[in-house]
Amino acid sequence: EPAGPARRQAVDTHCPYCSLQCGMRVRPGGAGAPAEVLERPDFPVNQGALCGKGRTAAEVLSPAARLTSPLVRGTDGVLRPAEWSEALDRVADGLLRAGAAYGRDAVGVFGGGGLTNEKAYALGKFARVVLRTSQIDYNGRFCMASAAVAHQRAFGLDRGLPFPLEDVARTGCVILVGSNLADTMPPALRYLTELRENGGRLIVVDPRRTRTAEQADLHLQPRPGTDLALALGLLHLVVAEGRLDEEFIASRTSGWQRTLPGVMAHWPELVERITGVPVPQLREAVAMFCDAADSMVLTARGPEQQAKGTDTVSAWINLCLATGRSGRPRSGYGCLTGQGNGQGGREHGQKADQLPGYRKLDDPAARAHVAAVWGVGPDDLPGPGRSAYELLDALGRDVRALLLMGSNPVVSAPRAAHVTERLRALDFLAVCDVVLSETAALADVVLPVTQWAEETGTTTNLEGRVILRRRAVDPPPGVRSDLEVLAELARRLGRDDGFPTDPEEVFAELRRASAAGPADYAGISYARIAAEDGVFWPCPAEDAPGTPRLFLDRFATPDGRARFTPVQHRPSAEEPSPEYPYYLTTGRVLAQYQSGAQTRRVRELNAAEPGPFVQLHPRLAARLGVADGELLAVTSRRGRAVAPARISAAIRQDTVFMPFHWPGEGRANTLTNPALDPASRMPEFKVCAVRVEAEGSA
Ligand code: SF4
Repeated sequence: EPAGPARRQAVDTHCPYCSLQCGMRVRPGGAGAPAEVLERPDFPVNQGALCGKGRTAAEVLSPAARLTSPLVRGTDGVLRPAEWSEALDRVADGLLRAGAAYGRDAVGVFGGGGLTNEKAYALGKFARVVLRTSQIDYNGRFCMASAAVAHQRAFGLDRGLPFPLEDVARTGCVILVGSNLADTMPPALRYLTELRENGGRLIVVDPRRTRTAEQADLHLQPRPGTDLALALGLLHLVVAEGRLDEEFIASRTSGWQRTLPGVMAHWPELVERITGVPVPQLREAVAMFCDAADSMVLTARGPEQQAKGTDTVSAWINLCLATGRSGRPRSGYGCLTGQGNGQGGREHGQKADQLPGYRKLDDPAARAHVAAVWGVGPDDLPGPGRSAYELLDALGRDVRALLLMGSNPVVSAPRAAHVTERLRALDFLAVCDVVLSETAALADVVLPVTQWAEETGTTTNLEGRVILRRRAVDPPPGVRSDLEVLAELARRLGRDDGFPTDPEEVFAELRRASAAGPADYAGISYARIAAEDGVFWPCPAEDAPGTPRLFLDRFATPDGRARFTPVQHRPSAEEPSPEYPYYLTTGRVLAQYQSGAQTRRVRELNAAEPGPFVQLHPRLAARLGVADGELLAVTSRRGRAVAPARISAAIRQDTVFMPFHWPGEGRANTLTNPALDPASRMPEFKVCAVRVEAEGSA
């Protein structure tokens, strides 16, 4: 790293937050001045635009906002500052003891979708090679896991968007399902604006009339948890109106005949009864989607965070396949991944069932390949472990010690009060984080680590574009990188090599581990990323171009055909009842990011959105006798949350909405249902049944 005046130069890097991974420049501060975030107009994805979260991201670099010393819990139960050597010894000892007393699988590891590719890779390797535990998963399981499974089963490969975002502006019609990107990733809105300026149409499916839905030519506002039926109803009309692409179905897909009966069982009037979306709107949507020469379906957390999320996404993919939209330019299905490295974080081995390169842990050839890179025998690698919620639910019982990196499940996990209890029940908890998050506050040892602009590493954005976050500022004294932490722990646990602390060295190994796998990074180097504004995987060789567009000639299945999946509507795990008469759906607001651990510490963001609220329709508010700003108690079968009412006609009368960014009595995830999707193990964040009352009236 250059020293002296050169360090004053602004450095090209990327935002620490969402999966758009906007390009930005960071100029280091000096002489007491803070670092600054500047526009970087030459990065193609956001072309200089940043949302308020990105624009203020330098504030979380300030030492005042974060931890700068390890903390260890004393015999008095209080966290106190400690030297690194003591803290690392304590972590190694805590993990070792649990393994010795209860077996290797009593030690768990929990990662995050915000970790760089290098960290996700090193964490997975650490779990499997050093701890030799099967019990590793990460918070991406709470993000886009359902879309990942649906992608795999339809196309044989999961890359969120199989095309670059620029194609969204050049298609003819987009159905955007359960995404409020105007709030979650505002610079991405320009692709939808351009779409409409180019004459394209936008259909938004959302139980709320969000700022994104306000841009739509058509807004379909279904009951929460019924978008599977909605997709089936649209496909039914496609069949009934003779709009199938028979030639595409015959030449490029399999499984249509098995899928057709389920489609025909969802006639429009039935779908209107299930979803609440009127039949004329269904017909209008089909006309817009099919009249366009090219069209797309893009999904986000709405359809995915359900106990039937995988089937719901499959239903939308079926619509794309039956109309011949996938497998050609400017058209098809894509998922808008959420977390900063939501895509790369699921490719490199921190997922319970996967090895680097998106290889399957139960595939003997995959085990042999990765084991050879790691210098161990294939039989030394453990098998698949528990999914994220199941792992958290097992804490203090089967899993006695946990190493947690880059996640805050006290706020972000479903049934969060129970998860908090399970974390408290552990024999030993170590947390690596930048700030003293609500989860870190429960730990026996907290290790303060470097963050985005203080370190170099790659992430993979929602398009599958591998990009380089560069170090722009010096970290404050007292913190270390996650890679250093893993190397030090590995050494204490008997493994002196195999855990380099230089990110580029880790990336070089990741390239070898991913080579010839589904997510092949072998041809991607830091130098290439810098020269090409990112490289799209798969990229098997240094002289091969990346792959911005997938599936144009064949899908990644053994026979090259995309697979239809037969699916049926089914109710959500909880439907409204006399005791719990309303739907609760949860989500995000413009000024906060995920569990809020970073953004709640930024003055401007906190001022804009200082706390939780309950959005409800004016008629429901009148029925409950509450005015805007008055406190509401929301109760589900798992607990009770209290927050001010925010009255708005933008939401259905049978539904209330709470953002999930805050801890405390307004914590939305106190209420959410951990019912899991059978295929993806995704919890049902988007729908549960609640009672709503004016606080104090119960
Ligand atoms: Fe950062 Fe996402 Fe905002 Fe871009 S849209 S500035 S990546 S939070």
